Amino acid sequence: MMDGNKIIIKNGLVYDPINNIEGEKKDILVESGRIVDKFTSTKDVIEIDANGKTVIPSAIDIHTHIASQQVNWVRLLGSNNDKFKEVWDGLRLKTIAKDYISMGYTFILEANVFPSLAKQTIFNFQQLPVLDKAMLLNISNFWPLELEFQRGKIKDMAVFLSDLLSKTYGFGFKVYNPFECETWDFKELREDLSKQGRLYNFSALDVYENVVKCVESLGLPHSTHAHIEGYENKIGKKNLFTVLEKIKSLDLAPNQTTNLNIKRNQILHLAHGNAYAYDGNNETLINFLNENQNFSIDLAFVAFNEINPIITSDRRLINFMFTEDAIENQHKLISSAVEFEGDSFVSMRTFKKNNYQDCILWANALDLALNVKNKSQMCFSLNYPNYGNIKNIPEIASWLISKEARDNFMKNMNRDFLKNNSLKNKNVSLSFSDFIYMTRVSPAISLGLGSIKGNLSIEADADINILDIDVQEIDVSKEYENFKRALSNIEYVIKSGKIIKKQKNIDLSTQGSIFWSRGKAEIEGKKLIISKKEEFYKKYASIFYDSYTTSLNQTILREID
Ligand SMILES: [Zn+2]
Repeated sequence: MMDGNKIIIKNGLVYDPINNIEGEKKDILVESGRIVDKFTSTKDVIEIDANGKTVIPSAIDIHTHIASQQVNWVRLLGSNNDKFKEVWDGLRLKTIAKDYISMGYTFILEANVFPSLAKQTIFNFQQLPVLDKAMLLNISNFWPLELEFQRGKIKDMAVFLSDLLSKTYGFGFKVYNPFECETWDFKELREDLSKQGRLYNFSALDVYENVVKCVESLGLPHSTHAHIEGYENKIGKKNLFTVLEKIKSLDLAPNQTTNLNIKRNQILHLAHGNAYAYDGNNETLINFLNENQNFSIDLAFVAFNEINPIITSDRRLINFMFTEDAIENQHKLISSAVEFEGDSFVSMRTFKKNNYQDCILWANALDLALNVKNKSQMCFSLNYPNYGNIKNIPEIASWLISKEARDNFMKNMNRDFLKNNSLKNKNVSLSFSDFIYMTRVSPAISLGLGSIKGNLSIEADADINILDIDVQEIDVSKEYENFKRALSNIEYVIKSGKIIKKQKNIDLSTQGSIFWSRGKAEIEGKKLIISKKEEFYKKYASIFYDSYTTSLNQTILREID
């Protein structure tokens, strides 16, 4: 398409909250993939007239499941499901990229990858056009760390995990139902996260604690990213607060040590924070977040699609769906244990507006979004494709910015839910700027990338959206249909200084980068620590430790150090 080295976006209404710019008419200059204050020469500059339009940074998805073995299983399960094919277009990588771009996204984080399956994710990343991407390694059931979890040996753990990141090109770490598979080997549901395992003498809580300490000691760009056991379940809230209070009690300060100026503020990021209040009461979580600014969450909005894939490592949820809730769910299940590293499950389901719990899950996300005071603690997500499709974003955005849109959507929801919930009476909504925070600014800062993503500062990556709407001319809370229209067809999307979307045309010919980080571990003693791990693999695993090594063209990699 238009492949210019230099672009000037003239007279747009600019929203760039990181730089305290909230609707200011100004020009944005782009050269060689970055935002600049002046061009090296005035030759060959593409001029975009943004008069009457709104200019914002590109969006960032901090929690998605788009590149893994499990996604292939979804494709397999969906291959003879017409509804799936229709709604998700087979979940093809090109469709995923296209949908993200059309909604203004240029960066995604694949949130759950087992280390030995990282190569599959990297392979998919290479086939996923345009978008910048990164992945989190799930290490919460990682047997080679048994000794470190047991003894709290943070230094050894940091050396080993830093090495693992450089082998796999991971960006950070995910904690997910620690050593739950051990409990399940005995067909037991774990009711207490502080209880030691049967085979190992440490608790799930010890794993959370040690991973958080280790990530901070490495100074990684992103904090520990957690999915708490009991997700979409009654026990979820109790477990959530057990973990939150524990991490709070460590009294750690965020310690991102990368060279980027803007650092993250959190020591723990909670995935899909709306999935833990089964009773629909979010007060304790709202209060916790308001009082503890060093925690961030993403809110996974439920869009009530005709069918949704489930990609999870949560056995309790799967157990519930395929035993207690079996009549409701007629879909097939694929389950697998990854040697040494944990479990994964894939199936399908349908959220329904007449189902009480589905409505609660939906409302929790809105309740948190509207009531947590500091919008930079909250990120927008869909737990894609678990709760919603990227294409649903304009509709979801309207619920956030307009009470009227929200009330209209709620009309045919479950009656008991409508009787009890407080959303209906709440006359609050988010501003356009809040929406930019949740979809752009907060995820960028939370990922430790606030200096280069989610903003329009000089030297930042030129990842920009131009919306065909003047958000100061109209009241978006009333004219939300216009706002939805502008979001549904973003006029321009610019990625690394290249126009990749202009009106209806999307250009998939470019390749994004794979972001990764190894953090800063001590060199001293490294040889011995790694050689011990190599021995451990030789003794107990069917792969060598060195099998993790991923070789790929260095030009696609972008190290955050
Ligand atoms: Zn998820």
